[in-house]
Amino acid sequence: MVKIGLEIHVQLNTRTKLFCSCKNEASKKPNVNTCPICLGMPGSKPLINEEAIKKAIKIGLMLNLNFSKKMFFSRKSYFYPDLSKNYQITQYELPVGTQGYFLINVKGRIKKIRIRRIHIEEDPAQIIHVGGSITNAEYVLLDYNRSGVPLCEIVTEPDFESSEEVIIFMKKLLSYLQHIKVFDIRKCKWRCDVNVSIPKGNRSEIKNVGSFKGIKSAINYEIIRQESLINKGFEVKRETRHFNASTNTTELLRTKEEEIDYGYIFEPDLTSFELSSYIKDSEDNMPELPEEIIKRLIKEYKLSKNNAEILVQKDPLFVEFFEKCSKMYENKKKLSNWIVGDLFKCLNFQEKSLFESKIKPNDFVDFLNLMDSKKITERLGKELIKEYVEKGIPPRQLMNRKNLNLLSKKEILNVIEKVIKENPKSVKDYQEGKKIVIDFLIGEVMKKTRATADPKITRELLEKKLKNK
Ligand SMILES: [Zn+2]
Repeated sequence: MVKIGLEIHVQLNTRTKLFCSCKNEASKKPNVNTCPICLGMPGSKPLINEEAIKKAIKIGLMLNLNFSKKMFFSRKSYFYPDLSKNYQITQYELPVGTQGYFLINVKGRIKKIRIRRIHIEEDPAQIIHVGGSITNAEYVLLDYNRSGVPLCEIVTEPDFESSEEVIIFMKKLLSYLQHIKVFDIRKCKWRCDVNVSIPKGNRSEIKNVGSFKGIKSAINYEIIRQESLINKGFEVKRETRHFNASTNTTELLRTKEEEIDYGYIFEPDLTSFELSSYIKDSEDNMPELPEEIIKRLIKEYKLSKNNAEILVQKDPLFVEFFEKCSKMYENKKKLSNWIVGDLFKCLNFQEKSLFESKIKPNDFVDFLNLMDSKKITERLGKELIKEYVEKGIPPRQLMNRKNLNLLSKKEILNVIEKVIKENPKSVKDYQEGKKIVIDFLIGEVMKKTRATADPKITRELLEKKLKNK
């Protein structure tokens, strides 16, 4: 059986860094969000950002963790160019919490993934590999904007048996982290170290994989690599590997160091922290968990379970969007159907998030009203929403620009005449009893009118016309 465990680093969306007041945000300019503390200058002293502790505790509540009464920070010593102090401030002996779990749904079966621990640590600076990858760059540059950014590390037990299970877990975890407002996928980074082992072999650790696709390829490659070593009678050594996204393979970085090599010592510049008041604060301010939101959407808005689940599983912004629209629009069922139906489909197709799409609740409700008042057909609505997602132009504006107002009966009749003239065979078929042909003729009218003809009126007029012919 394959055993897979994860060490996930998520950047907490705090306002400032973990131990100084520099901004915790990306910048196009390198080394601008820096100060003596996050540059690791001698004599500078770290100051804890309490927001990071509270957010890590919220993650702990979400992952059903046992909290430590007290926690403290340790120095993990190693030399690497991204770490000017030669040690990283992290947690070792007493982290935020241990022994939790998170449930995932694997093809209808609920599986419990045990969480070993979570702790808080600072991110090192960013190394930019110029002219190649980590294994063959010409030289490297260092950007300290990332140095001191607060990370929460979530360590699982090796409870996963396949890359599919890992992906299900990661998607759910990242969605939940956004719902409890400690992480923002648009601003925060995440990455994973993936441990993989198969029977009769040692585990290998693949460092810093930062995409779902990467996780899947890295695990699948690693399983095959280890199996083929064992099949050939070689030993699978304990080692640290790097995932190469351009070849979809893993490459040896170093043979695995033991924890003792890091020489952890207590961080003398920070006190230990009693957690009880932080836990109380986080419990009091804990946002709704997704399960609770689903229940509420069903109860409050009478949504179907399916629609409620889809709304919640995606970006939390969808729930917010739905609720904002709800205030202005009565038919909640129709509203949710359009959001999880055509809006989702168009966003997926164009690989856009709701945030990037410039879709506003006001305009979206206006769009639904246009259909309700029969100013546009549903069919035209489906066309307009595609453009709305793509270009960010609200449907009413699109309609006016393209002169897509619904046609009058007389105008529809004119088009029907043309369609009848152009399709004598279908007309003949219809009159000989093949009534289904009328759908084809209606389709032709829709094409010619860019769906500005009301389909019901078109059908009535066509039937009448065909009968009298
Ligand atoms: Zn700083």
